[in-house]
Amino acid sequence: MTQPADPKDSAAKPSNFLRQIIERDLEQGTYAQRHWAGQPADAQAHAQGPLDPARIRTRFPPEPNGYLHIGHAKSICLNFGLARDYNGVCHMRFDDTNPEKEEQEYVDGILDAVKWLGFSWDTNGTSHLYQASDYFDFMYRAAEYLVEAGLAYVDEQSAEEMRANRGDFGRPGKDSPFRSRSIDENLRRLRDMRDGRLADGAAVLRAKIDMASPNINLRDPALYRIKHAEHHNTGDRWCIYPMYTFAHPIEDALENITHSICTLEFEDQRPFYDWLLDRLAEGGLINKPHPRQYEFARLNLTYVVTSKRKLKQLVDEKHVDGWDDPRMPTIVGLRRRGYTPEAMQLFAERIGVSKANGWVDFSVLEQALRDDLDPKAARAMAVLDPVKLVITNWGALMGGDDVLDTCSAPVHPHDEARGRRSFSFGRVLWIERSDYEDVPPKGYNRLFPGNRVRLKYGHVVECTGAVRDAEGRLLEVHATLVPDTKSGTPGADAVKVKGNITWVGAADGVPAEVRLYDRLFSVPQPGTGERDFLDKLNPANLQVATAYVEPSLAQAAPDTRFQFERHGYFVADRQLHAPGRPVFNRATGMKDSWAK
Ligand code: ATP
Ligand code: MG
Repeated sequence: MTQPADPKDSAAKPSNFLRQIIERDLEQGTYAQRHWAGQPADAQAHAQGPLDPARIRTRFPPEPNGYLHIGHAKSICLNFGLARDYNGVCHMRFDDTNPEKEEQEYVDGILDAVKWLGFSWDTNGTSHLYQASDYFDFMYRAAEYLVEAGLAYVDEQSAEEMRANRGDFGRPGKDSPFRSRSIDENLRRLRDMRDGRLADGAAVLRAKIDMASPNINLRDPALYRIKHAEHHNTGDRWCIYPMYTFAHPIEDALENITHSICTLEFEDQRPFYDWLLDRLAEGGLINKPHPRQYEFARLNLTYVVTSKRKLKQLVDEKHVDGWDDPRMPTIVGLRRRGYTPEAMQLFAERIGVSKANGWVDFSVLEQALRDDLDPKAARAMAVLDPVKLVITNWGALMGGDDVLDTCSAPVHPHDEARGRRSFSFGRVLWIERSDYEDVPPKGYNRLFPGNRVRLKYGHVVECTGAVRDAEGRLLEVHATLVPDTKSGTPGADAVKVKGNITWVGAADGVPAEVRLYDRLFSVPQPGTGERDFLDKLNPANLQVATAYVEPSLAQAAPDTRFQFERHGYFVADRQLHAPGRPVFNRATGMKDSWAK
């Protein structure tokens, strides 16, 4: 007997190399014996705690130096998604080891973005929100440990000497003359560094590994540098700060991270990640087994840039109206553009994770949005480039020019339960300028003299001509009503027409600002090659127009999304839209207009 397919199975996430690694670790119980102190801690404190209740621990570790972009969304969906799927925990960690001025705006923005995407760092009442700078004491302790173990030394070569002695791909490095200092001298100099007795750049603490290693990252990498600078969290307590490559593995280890997932650029750092954590684990400083680093390909999305530095430049130089400009590939920008958290998650799932760098077409993101909104978004009619259609026999047929006829349409065509919306048909309607032609091009089924079309949800009309001004600009289109053709009434379909056009009644249509956004850049891979990425901004990436929309839309709450029939998906702008002053952003068209 065959079992009916479990619907949960068909909805199961496609596997990928990270899932396979996690499943293998779970099966083998790689991390099953580790203890957890209830918070990030060293090996001793963790040992006092119970077995770690989290089956896996991942983390999302942004630097609070800008707003998050779509690439970060991929990383968030990945890290929080894996934790959710495997009964784990994902830590939200600010990687704030660089002393820089407090950017509370960025910290808040990042937390908002993660929450908005639908993830939480609270699990069973515990908040897993951490900041790397809280680990400075431990990091310094680890540094002294390495010195005492003969695994690190204070190098006082000049920056140029250090660079020259590092060698390159074809040439091994040369040992620093400071490399053979005694442990005691190293310890004394490290403490001099810590105590502010040395100037910025006068010395660095380096790991003692191998100056001839084919992996340049293992040629005695720097661990600590001197920087007499205030830190937003630790103030002036420190004048030495850990290098990222030293800090990151330690942050992971203290937090009991199991799978430390990062982008491919860090692949060459993995041997040092393991070297460092192996040494600290041997010394009994951190939990065993230690976290492992796994790399995946970063997201590159066509027609935008995904680098905080470049996005910041767009904002600072006012090429856009801020981090949340709807043209920006930031999470706040996409949100304002009309994207939903579900669409972003769907996108992340569809692009998957791989080990090969490449570009994902922007249309994949747009399709995820259409697929998410199609079943959800209420329908509405809007005329984006309005011209008047005058029904010349209206008064005679209806008993007065001012008579209005109420028409209605489903809020959603596949869900009658959502009810109907209504609007008025009258003598004058707004239609799209492009829905009329004096002489129809081949295959044109809309309005031209002698042709009949249906005004969707309304009546059939027959075009009788148009009025133009002296310059030939279209002023009005004229038509006559064909009686007994109102949609939904018996016999309405007896009159066959090929064209079906959208409209808004002049009597109750509401003027609205529509912001038609297009690709931010006009080339698919801005910033690659020699070009300055700013040269390729798409000059037509925003068009602002006055449209007419159905009366009900004037009351729409900010952030409400609609499908404007024929035109695409629109959202009531969260900043600009207000009762009495509707403003809609086009999130995406009905289909991919950039497809070749
Ligand atoms: P940027 O270069 O834009 O500043 P970053 O990598 O320096 O990005 P972080 O704040 O350090 O930014 O990133 C936090 C996390 O997001 C990291 O784990 C990083 O790997 C991940 N991430 C950043 N950009 C992308 C991307 N384009 N695709 C996937 N993951 C990304
Ligand atoms: Mg960075």
